[in-house]
Amino acid sequence: MTTTKSYDVIIVGAGIFGLSCAYACAQRKLSVLILDAGKVGAGASGGIVGAMAPYTPDQWHVKKQYQFEALSSAAKHWAEVDKLSNMESGYGRIGRVCPITDERIYRLALTRHEEAKTNWAGFKWNVIEGHPLVTKLAAPFGLTYDTLSARIYPSKACASLARACSVLGVDFRENTRASGFEPGAVFGPWGRASARKIILAGGYQGFSLLDHHFGIQMGVGVKGQAALLDINLSDAPQIYANGIYIVPHSDGTITVGSTSENKWNEPCDVDYLLDEIIARAQSICPIIKNAKILETWAGVRPKARRRDLMIGPVPEVDGVFVAMGGFKVGFGLAHKVGVTLADLIQNKPTNLPKSFTIEHHLE
Ligand SMILES: Cc1cc2nc3c(=O)[nH]c(=O)nc-3n(C[C@H](O)[C@H](O)[C@H](O)COP(=O)(O)OP(=O)(O)OC[C@H]3O[C@@H](n4cnc5c(N)ncnc54)[C@H](O)[C@@H]3O)c2cc1C
Repeated sequence: MTTTKSYDVIIVGAGIFGLSCAYACAQRKLSVLILDAGKVGAGASGGIVGAMAPYTPDQWHVKKQYQFEALSSAAKHWAEVDKLSNMESGYGRIGRVCPITDERIYRLALTRHEEAKTNWAGFKWNVIEGHPLVTKLAAPFGLTYDTLSARIYPSKACASLARACSVLGVDFRENTRASGFEPGAVFGPWGRASARKIILAGGYQGFSLLDHHFGIQMGVGVKGQAALLDINLSDAPQIYANGIYIVPHSDGTITVGSTSENKWNEPCDVDYLLDEIIARAQSICPIIKNAKILETWAGVRPKARRRDLMIGPVPEVDGVFVAMGGFKVGFGLAHKVGVTLADLIQNKPTNLPKSFTIEHHLE
């Protein structure tokens, strides 16, 4: 499929990061081609969890500021995307409750309540005595309740964003795996595609393109499993307790997730580890006990070498950029990552934290 047309930008990978970069570039009237080894939105982004949750509002630093800007602008972004696509991403700012399990965390929560007044303009981090969905046993010292957290339905969000990209003129090629890149081109067994700028956004599998270049492992895949349950919690806040997410969706379902598996063989298989997650979720939120399981799902999160996002120019390879490493928080950050990449491509200033750069990951 060697392309005859030369694009402003070619993006490798049509997950939430690649699509977000495509959308931001296309909004600036850049011509964009997005390649995917499989189907659009079928990687880690094609899932069912979709918690968009913040770091805590204390000990403020540039990373927290970057994430705050992303989360606080997400409602506007997804409303625009859904309007353009005429589809639904399932976005909703429903907030989040987290059980407080000991006195130390209770005292910390009170500090965070105060810090949120300074660092979270327009949003709150409150301490509440109880919540009807959470057992007292799970929350002996009450709960925190933040108003910044949101939910989205990942697979629907990808479909909406992909349609919005198409409306803006982005070209797509599925089943087209890139095996390498160089300034001005990506290539594979299918041929070559040329562009002024390249963005590598291949999720966990995309790290291998960089491994080859740097001679070290730039990231790994961490598997997760989740289940979709048939129970309408309406717009109740999502619940996060000890690694378990319970996320109410707008369509009358909830998702319970997720496992975090560093060792795995089959990326899409679901096993007994998911049963354990569901049982733990039921003990925190008993109302979900008899809910029917509608769907189970597993995917592999991209975790960069030093855990943070991996964003920005590839050193010494002119015009090649990366947008990877969303790990467990990709959906909350993706649209800001897209804007950052578009800014970098157009040589505009960004507030990209140093710890997100490739140089940091190489240290
Ligand atoms: C169980 C589970 C629960 C999660 N829960 C949440 C959550 O609640 N909140 C949250 O924010 N995040 C969550 N995440 C993480 C989130 O899903 C990821 O951060 C995000 O989807 C990563 O997006 P991506 O675009 O980088 O990768 P992907 O979605 O994996 O997309 C990468 C794409 O690149 C393609 N590709 C790879 N290599 C090549 C190549 N060489 N050539 C062409 N194409 C290539 C792949 O086919 C794929 O389509 C969860 C993940 C899992 C697995």
